[in-house]
Amino acid sequence: MHVAHTPQKIAKIREAWVADGLTTGFIPTMGALHAGHMALVEQAKDYCDRVMVSIFVNPKQFGPAEDFGAYPRTLEADSDLLKAHGVNLLFLPDAATLYPPGFSTRVEVDGLTGVLCGASRPGHFSGVATVVTLLLMIAEADFAFFGEKDYQQLQVIRRMATDLRLPSEIFGVPTVREQDGLAMSSRNRYLNAEERKAAPLLYAAMRGVREDTARPLAQATGEARERLEKAGFRIDYLEARHADTLELSETRSNARLFAAVFLGATRLIDNIALD
Ligand code: AMP
Repeated sequence: MHVAHTPQKIAKIREAWVADGLTTGFIPTMGALHAGHMALVEQAKDYCDRVMVSIFVNPKQFGPAEDFGAYPRTLEADSDLLKAHGVNLLFLPDAATLYPPGFSTRVEVDGLTGVLCGASRPGHFSGVATVVTLLLMIAEADFAFFGEKDYQQLQVIRRMATDLRLPSEIFGVPTVREQDGLAMSSRNRYLNAEERKAAPLLYAAMRGVREDTARPLAQATGEARERLEKAGFRIDYLEARHADTLELSETRSNARLFAAVFLGATRLIDNIALD
């Protein structure tokens, strides 16, 4: 596995691949890698001849009161995992490489970012869109892979990649879950034993809404909310939205159920298709 710290090094390696007629796939991550990230790697390996992964904990997408400092950094284990999965290049930029002195540009995607996590985490998607634009332009891969676990982020990136004519075709990959249903996330390691035990109830309650087709969606969602609150969850949002526009939806057709909840200090997000 090549390791690159600079865009120049990636360009050199990619040029050799392209000269050999090989296709490339790219997966941006913040590290603390788990089987969810590896599903993206495996999908990329199926589609592309060469796979690149970046690890960068992006300060611009964390709010001032959020967990940037505490975000898990497990580079050695991550690197071993990527090697074991046959990744060809690991990109490890530092903040000064991506944001050199004087850096003043932000990428804003209107519309999709005004709701859900965009409403709860001001500036978050602008930070994501800015770093992902930079990373996609540096990697210049044929394809880039993102998880449906962060469905709103995936939609924002699709929009932005189309609007800015970014070089990669964007692929969404289904959410990978623990056996008990909890969506895998680097932040799950923040949960204490009791919170970890309660956490799968989120997916169970969401599935309950999906399966409760006899009742109006609003009623089923309201009940799920109550069930979660009784079990000690603090709900940021639990609502059905159109899968493409992210507008509120009263029907199940082409809708998804989106959730963000707190268990203690840990914020968990999840989403599932309703139809
Ligand atoms: P992160 O390191 O959290 O920024 O995630 C990097 C990429 O992995 C993003 O595209 C995420 O949506 C994706 N991802 C994270 N967790 C999962 C999961 N449980 N299943 C599928 N994709 C995931």
